[in-house]
Amino acid sequence: MADKRPLTEPDDFEGAGISPPGQDESYHNPTDPDRFDEDLELEQTLRPSRFEDFPGQDKAKDELQLYVEAARQRGDALDHVLLFGPPGLGKTTLAAILSNEMGVSFRTTSGPVMERPADLAGMLTNLQRGDLFFIDEIHRLNHVVEEHMYSAMEDFRIDIMVDKGPNARSIPLPLDRFTLVGATTRTGLLTAPLRARFQIQIHLEFYKPEHLYLIIKRAAGILDVEIDDEGALEIARRSRGTPRIANRYLRRVRDYAQVRGDGRITSATAAAAFEMLGVDAEGLDSMNRSILATIIEKYQGGPVGVKTLSVAVGEEQDTLEEVYEPYLVLGGFIKHTSRGRVVTELAYRHLGLEPTSKQAKLFE
Ligand code: ADP
Repeated sequence: MADKRPLTEPDDFEGAGISPPGQDESYHNPTDPDRFDEDLELEQTLRPSRFEDFPGQDKAKDELQLYVEAARQRGDALDHVLLFGPPGLGKTTLAAILSNEMGVSFRTTSGPVMERPADLAGMLTNLQRGDLFFIDEIHRLNHVVEEHMYSAMEDFRIDIMVDKGPNARSIPLPLDRFTLVGATTRTGLLTAPLRARFQIQIHLEFYKPEHLYLIIKRAAGILDVEIDDEGALEIARRSRGTPRIANRYLRRVRDYAQVRGDGRITSATAAAAFEMLGVDAEGLDSMNRSILATIIEKYQGGPVGVKTLSVAVGEEQDTLEEVYEPYLVLGGFIKHTSRGRVVTELAYRHLGLEPTSKQAKLFE
């Protein structure tokens, strides 16, 4: 059976780049252009560690709080959890909150980092009962590692190969009961067998401005930045529903207020800072607008395939699909059709353009 396939080489463990659990926390997600190196340390500071400090995602929080409580009452490990959602919505944060609320250790890695089954085995055998093992970008696990994951998740066992040649044999290694929390940006990216092994599956949504407002106020408090309500709302409205972007814009606006103002963030300083950053009233930045303008100017409003579009705007296809498109779709600027992406009337209006008569007919 495929999921019993042992490690291919006995020396897989040697020099496999296994880092002690917890050492991969600074992993940088190369597909998220909104995540900069300077974010990494700050994200740790701004990351809430309890559900009560985590505004928004009420449905997800309600469900997760219930499962935590149930597992704690039974004295059990939490079931495996899969978190879906675009980058920066709080998947890593929620995983860390789950470990905190369960009172267990938090071990973290990411799909692309675990290149060989030995990397996985190294992490898993270091886990203690109940520990929470977080794999970011779990859809990027290679298939051999993924197959080893199945028995680890289901039977808390991983098969390793010992010895070489005729003496080679596979030994099942028992693991302590752990909780796997996987994070992925889109539903369709995961294979069915892996997905089926997560008992709890949670979708995260873009945040409403009122929740981003609370996140910004809290972050401003931690960073010791003076900000009034209108200033916080202005940043909230332009953050494309994403806490990571909100925290980032807060810091840029703070810099602006410090140098060009009196250090205090108001709606006026925020608006002036956004003007400088090229972020418009809807929160679209130059890349977002370039995507819309390209579809309109080069492809007459669409439809255009995602591959062609990614070449035209000079962005990786994955990044286009996982980072930029979800918000443009939610904001009503583009639509997915079976023949490709099309812009909406709103996109024309937003860019101050007139649809051609052919396009206008499609909007009727
Ligand atoms: P993801 O793993 O989904 O890419 P993260 O959990 O790394 O997102 O969150 C990105 C940043 O946004 C972190 O600094 C985190 O503290 C902050 N953040 C995300 N969600 C919330 C929230 N609901 N409340 C406060 N801060 C949040």
